[in-house]
Amino acid sequence: NLGRVKDRVAFVTGAGSGIGRAAALKLASEGARVCLADLKDNRTDEVKQLIEEKGGEAFVADVDVSDEARVREGIEKAVGKWGRLDIVFANAGINGTWTPIENMTSEQWDDTLATNLKGTFLAVKYAIPYMKEHGGSIIVTSSINGSRKFSSFGASAYSASKAGQVAFAKMAALELARYRIRVNVICPGAIDTNIGENTNITPELKTIQIPVKYPEGSQPLEHRSGKPEQVADLVLFLASDESSHISGTEMFIDGAESLL
Ligand code: NAD
Repeated sequence: NLGRVKDRVAFVTGAGSGIGRAAALKLASEGARVCLADLKDNRTDEVKQLIEEKGGEAFVADVDVSDEARVREGIEKAVGKWGRLDIVFANAGINGTWTPIENMTSEQWDDTLATNLKGTFLAVKYAIPYMKEHGGSIIVTSSINGSRKFSSFGASAYSASKAGQVAFAKMAALELARYRIRVNVICPGAIDTNIGENTNITPELKTIQIPVKYPEGSQPLEHRSGKPEQVADLVLFLASDESSHISGTEMFIDGAESLL
């Protein structure tokens, strides 16, 4: 622990599981006070406990990132408690429905975009008023599916939402530079989390699967999926002053998977 984000206040969405959980723990271990935003029925209480056991500070906010009022309230609560906001990790996301485009309903499409893309917009929008005075760092979790890898068959809504996040983050980086708010987007490959649990894979998916050169999920570097803690190291770097000259960048963290 080098105190790399000491006394900063962080708002982390999807903090109950996977990448968000690992990042919340990492930021707290480096001195940040962390607002753990996730859906009500999730595992944020345990994350809060783990942070407090190590002498850190955290609190839980029940936030559905697709719900504008809840996002605004969650951020207001964090600022109300700690008086400032320095770091936003817009990370909550779902795989949604993986099915051929001709079978995808517009509701399935909307659900995926509401959480992944609109949720990112809302977290950034409502953070700006509290960050513009002193600057800060915003990190968005996209995916290699958003710009480099298009062989996850059936994931058209997911990939579109992830590509949207990349474009949005780059626009935000330029627009918010005048406030010294840095915005970067991370693009993980396959990471060992709970995201697969709620993926709605429809039977029609097998009709569009064509052979790919390498099996899904194989990564040249380590021949396994990445670990959430490895992604958390990148999030910490982008949140801290060690990345003070980095904004508008898309960073791949995938063990070279997306080059296959
Ligand atoms: P995860 O399912 O383990 O964690 C995601 C968390 O987000 C969960 O706690 C869930 O409750 C929360 N969440 C979902 N919808 C929400 C909503 N509407 N409001 C608030 N919270 C919500 O998954 P993960 O892999 O850690 O996913 C985090 C991010 O990483 C996602 O944006 C995902 O697309 C991205 N990602 C994951 C992988 C991977 O292989 N795991 C790869 C690339 C990108």
